Amino acid sequence: MADEADPNTAAAGFSAAVNGGGRTVQECQDMIRKSFRTPMVKFLREHLEKSGCSLGENFVKAVHCDKLISGGYVRGEGIMVCSNHMSIQDEVNQVVIHELIHAYDDCRAANLDWANCAHHACSEIRAGHLSGDCHYKRELLRGFMKIRGHEQDCVRRRVMKSMTANPYCSEAAARDAMEAVWDICYNDTKPFDRAP
Ligand SMILES: [Zn+2]
Repeated sequence: MADEADPNTAAAGFSAAVNGGGRTVQECQDMIRKSFRTPMVKFLREHLEKSGCSLGENFVKAVHCDKLISGGYVRGEGIMVCSNHMSIQDEVNQVVIHELIHAYDDCRAANLDWANCAHHACSEIRAGHLSGDCHYKRELLRGFMKIRGHEQDCVRRRVMKSMTANPYCSEAAARDAMEAVWDICYNDTKPFDRAP
C-alpha cells in the first residue's frame, strides 16, 4: 500500500538536502539498516517472525519514487522506502515502522483484502496510530499545532491520504470505511500491549 509523503515534510526535505533532492538510494539503504537497530523495528520484526513471516534479506528496499509517496508495502515483494523523499533518520524509521505494521496485518490475517476499503482503512488506522506518525513533535514539524484530540485528527488525515492511492475506494467510500472501522481498529494495538 503506497503511503503519500506529507507535502510539507517532503518540501522541507528538499530544501534541507544539500543536493536539493533527498537522499540517494545507497544512503537510504544505510539508513534502513540503522532503523533495524531501533527497539520498535526489532520488536515488530520479532512479532512478524513469531507469526510465521520472517523478513528475508532485502525485505526493505530503498528506491527512487516518481510519485510523491514516502514508501509502501506490497504483498510478496516487501517494503519500499522512497530515498528521494527522505532527509533524516527519523523519517526512515517512521516509514519502516509504518510499513512493517501493514506487513504484520497482512501476515496475521490470511483473508486480508487490500482492495476492500474497510480492510485497507483498518490497517492504515493501525499503522498511523501505532507508528507514532502523529506524535506531536512530528506534527509540529509539519506545521500543525498540537491541541487536544489532534492525534486522532492527524491519523484520520493520513489514512485518507494513503487511501487516495487505492483505486477501489472513492473518497466517500474511504471516509465511510474509515469511520465504520475506526473504534475497533484504533483500539487494536497488536502486537503491542498498548499504543507505544
Ligand atoms: Zn500505510
